[in-house]
Parts: sequence; structure tokens; C-alpha cells
Amino acid sequence: MPIKRISKSIVCFITISLSIVIILLFVFPFVHVYGAQDKDELIVGVPGDRCPIFYIDTETDEVTGIGIDLMRLAAENAGYIPVFRIIEEATLKDALDNERYDIVMPFGSAVKSSAGNASIVSENLFQTPFTLVTDGDGKLPALDKLKIGMLKSLAAGAETVKQLYPNVEIKMYDAMDDCINALRKGEVDALLHNSYIWSYVLQKPAYQDLKVQPSSVFSMDFRVGTLDSEKGRAVIERINSGIEKMPDTQRQAIILNYTSRNLYKYDLSDYVYKYGPFIAAGILLFAVVIAFFLQRIRIVKMQQEEKLRKVLDHDPLTGLLSLNGFKKKAVELISSHPDTPYFLSYNNIRDFKFINDSLGRDAGDDLLRFWAKKSMENISDDEAIGRITSDHFVVLRHIASDEHMQSDIENVFEPVKNFFIDRGKENKVQIVSGIYVLTPKDFRNIDIDHMIDLARVAEKRARESRKEDHVFYNPDQWERGKRIADIVNYLPTALKSGDIQVYYQPQVNYKTGQIISAEALCRWDHVKLGWLSPPGFIETLEDAGLIYDLDCFVWERVCQDLQRWNKQGIHRSVSVNVSRDDISDDIDIVNKFVGLLKAYDLTADQLRIEITETAYAEKPELLIETTQKLRSSGFRVEMDDFGSGYSSLHMLKEVPVDCIKLDLNFLTSSGDPKKSRTIISCVIQMVNMLDLELIAEGVETKQQADFLSSKGNNIMQGFYFYRPMPVEEFEKLGDRIDTFPLEKQKS
Ligand code: C2E
Ligand code: MG
Ligand code: MG
Repeated sequence: MPIKRISKSIVCFITISLSIVIILLFVFPFVHVYGAQDKDELIVGVPGDRCPIFYIDTETDEVTGIGIDLMRLAAENAGYIPVFRIIEEATLKDALDNERYDIVMPFGSAVKSSAGNASIVSENLFQTPFTLVTDGDGKLPALDKLKIGMLKSLAAGAETVKQLYPNVEIKMYDAMDDCINALRKGEVDALLHNSYIWSYVLQKPAYQDLKVQPSSVFSMDFRVGTLDSEKGRAVIERINSGIEKMPDTQRQAIILNYTSRNLYKYDLSDYVYKYGPFIAAGILLFAVVIAFFLQRIRIVKMQQEEKLRKVLDHDPLTGLLSLNGFKKKAVELISSHPDTPYFLSYNNIRDFKFINDSLGRDAGDDLLRFWAKKSMENISDDEAIGRITSDHFVVLRHIASDEHMQSDIENVFEPVKNFFIDRGKENKVQIVSGIYVLTPKDFRNIDIDHMIDLARVAEKRARESRKEDHVFYNPDQWERGKRIADIVNYLPTALKSGDIQVYYQPQVNYKTGQIISAEALCRWDHVKLGWLSPPGFIETLEDAGLIYDLDCFVWERVCQDLQRWNKQGIHRSVSVNVSRDDISDDIDIVNKFVGLLKAYDLTADQLRIEITETAYAEKPELLIETTQKLRSSGFRVEMDDFGSGYSSLHMLKEVPVDCIKLDLNFLTSSGDPKKSRTIISCVIQMVNMLDLELIAEGVETKQQADFLSSKGNNIMQGFYFYRPMPVEEFEKLGDRIDTFPLEKQKS
């Protein structure tokens, strides 16, 4: 074959092939279009939240269900390719107006669209039973009085119900949960919905208590609908032809296919509802176990810390506190016992090195352990002892009586000194001590190192002196501390034994010479310190927080005397002193005084209450309130020591008292006497103008009394008239004591 012919054949073949391809490319689309014309696409709008009728298959993400399969069958019978779209509108009636959908479903009958357009519906695809569901077993009212709840998306169905049962009241809700809440609250008697949907919804654990009413209320048709237009009618006609071709058996098979499947899927809330108590119990158990373990860890940690602390805070040889432990405990004790007089001693064994060298280290250790043991036996919980190094011991101890000291000597020092002698050896142990007595400043600013240093300075002096076995760093403080201890420690017994007595100092009307009242003043015949007048112990008791005990004792004694006099037919009045510390949030003195009146059957005018002016500076509001309460309970309140404080005039303005007590001692003891007289006469004038009463106390001379009288004040108290005296003496004054209220005695 010649080459030319071969190439001609190839060109011819390529040309024919290309022609065929071009023809195919042209013709195929037409064939396709022709085929499509044969099978039209039909957009069907459906709801997606009505399992098992319409729902989203979670595996394929496509809408499926009984309604979908039935419609697909009808549409395909009619030559359509159905495409299902979930409607975005709230109701089917809204969806009717949307041109996106060729048809919308399901409808029971033809309804007007939301925009008011008429619609047409297809033949019935299948008959759906509608069932009522109630809350529990509650009886349903008659149909014509029934209130039922339905989903808003079933608005078209609701219309059908209304047509069938005009008397039924229908309430529409957005979601199934809202329907069920309304049912539970009793807003509606029952809920109405498609039975197939109920079969799905009621599988939710939280809805288990809902009851399906046995007979279905009615059956509703299940049709497709579209707006009544030429196009719509054509589509419906075609669908109807498809529906006609649907065999009943196939419909039943579709329904059975969905209703027999277990489609309900638990969500989180279902699990919580169903297994909530178990989950809660599990969480609780877990929490308890965790808490238990955390607690254990904490305890173990604390125990370890405690152990470590003990190691750090204790001396392994003697079991006493180490320097660190002693300092900690000392700070604790001093801050929690601010009123206890303490001393800190620094103790040391003279020539301890010699003991170690001659008798051996073990003997030295035995001695130290013995000293520690004896000391521990002798001290109380609010005292501390520590070994800070070798043979150096520090002790924080109360300053108590001399007997206390004696017991230290007998029970600790003597046995320690004789430790070796008692064990058949000749060595006498010598202890030297330096003693530092804590001052008030040490309680305010606790510096243990500084205290130890000062005690050590004293110990050094004792060591160097070779004569003294103990030296005080501050002996004057020691005396002061001992005195405080003697006052504080002896108070309870003194109150019981009668060592504390009440004296009365008469108050007189200078013009008439009559005694109009008296002030109660306490006296203490101290077993150790001798005769004490109040300035010797009142402040100490105030500092120690014990003044209220003393005052209560005095008030009670005064009330006893007043009651006795009342019984003798003599109605007297007495002024009693109230310490500034009795004006406190912790003490209710008003109640106390009212109680005393009741207990001793007295009247309020018999007890006059002297409150010192200095109380105002510390707690003005409480003082004003207390004064008001006392006065409204009928007591007469007297401001004691007027002029002694810094804000006398201010207080005079603020505190509602009845009487001022002006102490001449404050004004006459120093300074220019002329000025004093001017001040006194001005005060008398001012007090008169304020319509208050005035008692001048501390009147010692006739001149003073005459001067006061000339300035218009005649009520006086002072040595010039009477000194404070025991009750027996006071009673002897007899007729000279008035029994009238003070008001009548005013000049
Ligand atoms: P006070 O309440 O101002 O009592 C008057 C003080 O002046 C009394 O002192 C009295 O003995 C003294 N006095 C009376 N006349 C004269 C005089 O002409 N010249 C001089 N120099 N002094 C005179 P006392 O009894 O020593 O009491 C002193 C303070 O102790 C009292 O001052 C009072 O504040 C307080 N006090 C006395 N007894 C008690 C009590 O039972 N409880 C309380 N909380 N304090 C009391
Ligand atoms: Mg007084
Ligand atoms: Mg006074």
C-alpha cells in the first residue's frame, strides 16, 4: 500500500471520529433535557422536627421519615424527581407563600396561606391518627369544654380541629417542651398531636409520666398543598395521579418500617434525667473520696510539720523548749495575758564545765535532765521554760506571792543544788539567776530577745558578784509586779472574807447642816499590804479587767444597807462609783442596776450613779447611750471629777447628766488661788444656768465652804464636814441624815 493512501485513510478516520465526538457533544444535552422533561424535579417543603414523620437522619444528614417515603413514592409515580427541603418558616401556612417550594406538606385540608391566598391540596396520602396526651391519669373534661395545646407549626392542623370541634379551645406553643410545661401547669387539659409523633416523643424519660388517651380523637388527612394557581393545580393533578397508583400495602409497609424502628436517641438531658440521682451519688461519692484523701494528705502534712516543729522547738536532751520554742511560747503567753505580771529569768550553773570534766559528761547531762524535770513539775500552763544552750535555762513565770518563790527554791533549786550530794558525791551545784521583770512597755511591744538579754545582764552580775545567787535587772519593777500580783490574786478572797468594806462619806447642805446623801467609797484591809485606799488598787484592778467584780460587790453592799434602812422606815439615797471600764459593750450596767433595785426592793432615786468624766474621752457614744438609758430608768446620773479631763465642756454639752461633782482638789492643789476661785465661781454660775445640780467635793476648810456658799452652791462633801466612815458610824449620825430627795434640799 502506498504511503499516500495510508495517510489519507488515517486523516479520514480522525475526521470521522471527531465528527462523532462533536455530534455526541451536541446531541447529549438535548437527550438529557428531554429525559429531564420526562422526570421533573419537584421541590417539596417539609417540617424537619416530627420524628418519625419528618426528621433528619443523623447518618446521611438528609430529611427522612414516613411522610418523605410516602411522598417520594407518590411523586415518582407521577414522574417527578422529588427534592425535599426543610421549611424555614414558622408554620406550613407561611411556607405556602414561599415560591421556593413547589408544594408543601402535610395538610389535613386546604387552608388559606398566611398571606391570605387560597390553597389547594392533593388526595390523601395516608390517614394519620391524632391522639390526646394528658398529664397523669387526670380525667378529661367533655370535648366541648376541652382546652388543648398544640405546636404552632401545626397551625393548619389546628384549623382543621377547629372546623371539626368548634367548642374546643386551642392554645399554640412554640416547642414540645413548652406544650408539656403548659400541660403540667394546668394551662391546658391535654396536648394534641399526630400519634406516630407521640410514639416517638413519649420515649423521652422526662415525659414517661404522660398518658396517651386510649381512643384517638380523630384522623387527619395527610395531603400536600400549594397555592391555588394554574401551575399549582397542574402539579396537584399530577401528584394525585401518583397517589392513585400507590398500593395500600406499600403505604402500610412504609409506616411499619418507621414505627417499628427504635428511632429515639437519648440526649444529655435525658441521661441526666434518667441517671441523675446515680450521677449525683457518684459525684458525691467521688467528692467524698477526694475530700477524704485531701484531708488525709493535710493531716499527714500537718503531722510532719508538727514533728518538724517539735524537733526545732524542743531540746532533745531535756525535752524542754529550745530557744526557738521558748521565744514562740513566750510571745504567745505575754500577748494573751496582758494583765499578768511576769518575770523572765536567765539561769546558769556555775562552773558547769568543771562538773562535766570531773564527773563526766553523762553526769552533767543527768543533772540537766533532773533540773528540767523539777522545773516542769513546778510551772503552770501559762508559764514557759526552755534550755537555750548547754546549762543555760530561761523561764517565763508569773510574779506571785513570796510563798510561790519559796516553793521554787524548795522544789527546784534546792534539789538541783543537792543533786550530786544526794547521790553520795561531794559536789554542790550552784545556780546563778538574772531576773528581768516585764514592764507595761514589754506587753505593748513584745521583744523576747531584748528581755532575755536584760535577764542575762543581771545573770552576769550575779555570776560576777560571787555573793548573790540571783540579781534583779529592775528591782523596782519586781516590787511593783509583786504588788500587782498581791492585789489581783487576793481580790477573790478579799471580796468573800470582808477585807473589802464600804465606807460612806456624807454630803451636806451647808446652809442647813443636814446630811442629804452619801457617797459609797471602798476600803481594803489587805492581809499582806495593810490598809489600802482606792488609789492604791483601783487602777490595778482596771488594768487587770477585775474592776467590775469589785464594783458589783460595792453596789450590792450599798443596796443591802439601803434595804435595811428602808425596813427601818428610813428612805436614804447613796451615790455609787462606776469605773470607766464598766462602760463597755460587754457589760450591761443599766440592766445590772435595774436588777439590784428589784432584788432589794429599792426605788431608783435611792441609787445615784457617779460616772467619771474620763470615761467620755474613751467611749463618748456608749457613755451618752448608757447615761440616757440610766436616766430613763429613773436613776440620777452624776458626772464625777468634773474638770479633770480634757474635754469637760464638750462632755457637759453632750452627756445628759443631772448633777456635776466638782472636785476642789483639782483646782486648789496648785496654781494661782485667785484664778481657782474665779474658775469655781464661773463653774457654779454655768451649772446653775444649765439647770444642773452641783456637788462640791474635797471641801476641807470653812473658808472654802463659805466661798462656795457665797457663790450660790451649798451642797458639799469633804473632810471639813465628814471623812468617809464605816456604815456603823454613818448610821450613828441618825437624825442629821435627811431622808428626803435631794431636790428639796437645794438652797
Ligand atoms: P471620787 O469618786 O472622786 O471620791 C472622792 C474621793 O475624795 C475619795 O477618795 C474621798 O475619800 C476623797 N475625799 C473626800 N473628801 C476629801 C477632802 O476633803 N480632801 C481630800 N483630799 N480628799 C477627799 P477615795 O475614797 O480615796 O477614792 C478615790 C477614788 O477612787 C474615788 O474618787 C473614786 O474615783 C475611786 N473609787 C472609790 N471607791 C470606788 C469604788 O467602789 N468603785 C470605783 N470604781 N471607784 C471607786
Ligand atoms: Mg465618786
Ligand atoms: Mg470625785
